[in-house]
Amino acid sequence: RWIGLGVVVREYASLSHLHKQYFGFPGEILMRMLKLVILPLIISSMITGVAALDSEVSGKIGLRAVVYYFSTTIIAVILGIVLVMTIKPGVSQEAEHIDRTGTTPNVTTVDTLLDLVRNMFPENLLQACFQQVTIINITKDYKIVGSYSDGINVLGLIVFCVAFGLVIGKMGERGRILLEFFDALNEATMRLVQIIMCYMPVGILFLIAAKIIEVEDWEIFRKMGLYMVTVLSGLAIHSTICLPLIYFAIVRKNPYTFTLGMAQALVTALMISSSSATLPVTFRCAEENLRIDKRITRFVLPVGATINMDGTALYEAVAAIFIAQLNDYSLDVGQIVTISITATVASIGAAGVPNAGLVTMVIVLTAVGLPANDVTLIVAVDWLLDRFRTMINVLGDAYGAGIVQKLSRRELERMDVTSDVDVTNPF
Ligand code: ASP
Repeated sequence: RWIGLGVVVREYASLSHLHKQYFGFPGEILMRMLKLVILPLIISSMITGVAALDSEVSGKIGLRAVVYYFSTTIIAVILGIVLVMTIKPGVSQEAEHIDRTGTTPNVTTVDTLLDLVRNMFPENLLQACFQQVTIINITKDYKIVGSYSDGINVLGLIVFCVAFGLVIGKMGERGRILLEFFDALNEATMRLVQIIMCYMPVGILFLIAAKIIEVEDWEIFRKMGLYMVTVLSGLAIHSTICLPLIYFAIVRKNPYTFTLGMAQALVTALMISSSSATLPVTFRCAEENLRIDKRITRFVLPVGATINMDGTALYEAVAAIFIAQLNDYSLDVGQIVTISITATVASIGAAGVPNAGLVTMVIVLTAVGLPANDVTLIVAVDWLLDRFRTMINVLGDAYGAGIVQKLSRRELERMDVTSDVDVTNPF
């Protein structure tokens, strides 16, 4: 239906640029509404999530989440490398056949890491609500024209909220007032999300139809076909085999029922290419459909949306080796290990916004001595791949919540006996 509407309008109506913009308007409104609730959602969920646990339990849950994030990201990177070395999508082509356009932003590994840490400590809380991430701005003819700021400094807010939540948790009776305030804020925000969800089908219909009308160069898909097949099959294997196997090994429940429960969040991620903006829907699916404990989702999902990006990591590894193949550049084992490490760092450093992976891609290329400018070779198809990798990023976060809940069940049960604050039932 979505694609059909786009194709029909594209074939039968000759729309000017302005009309195309009008056509995408209902979709734009959906994006704006989702972004609007991110701020109260992250703040209220993180603060109550941490305050409701004692610091020892939250430390344990945090550690389990980080171990999960890290290991699944590495698995995704290795899978990507194996596929791209087997399929060799770049070997049959030459870089000259694909246009190199635009300029590349300057990003290095050290800069990315320093930026990551810098973002963790915003100097001004209000300013942190206006993110300073760098996002590649891609013009209609796939030129990279620079960067701009958008969104929220999610990482900075998370660090602040964890500290604030820990302090509230230790304040006893007086801290309870704040805890109840943020708990009520969380509930109110989730009710708003419920309303936004009613508008979702309309917004999504127009988002995708507007994109179909806008794309002008379909030929590029033929040229880049094998590269896209490599990335997409990697994402498919990771989401239908690797993650479900890990889930089944630990939780012993049907992983595909789990994936089905997340369907709405996955479709949203596919349509809007942003893990952060999908967060409200991710919360709802995890808590309402999958009944994951609120104490876990509040903690694991916002952090996951910011640093756990399996899809992006896989994509970065495949793209770097694809570019090496295009340039006839042979990589030794050391360079492949470097690609694995930098792709992991690059995925952690990427913000949960559209095309962020393309910016941090530059650090992977530079690390192995490939021309950073070659990132422009893959820009033309990024709008499509970005959607699929975002979907896998979101799925990875959700599986993380399910797995961490299972691993932390003893602590949670112990708390159920001792605590009288009920934050486990969201609706
Ligand atoms: N769009 C992705 C996300 O929001 C990040 C990326 O560009 O890979 O998860």
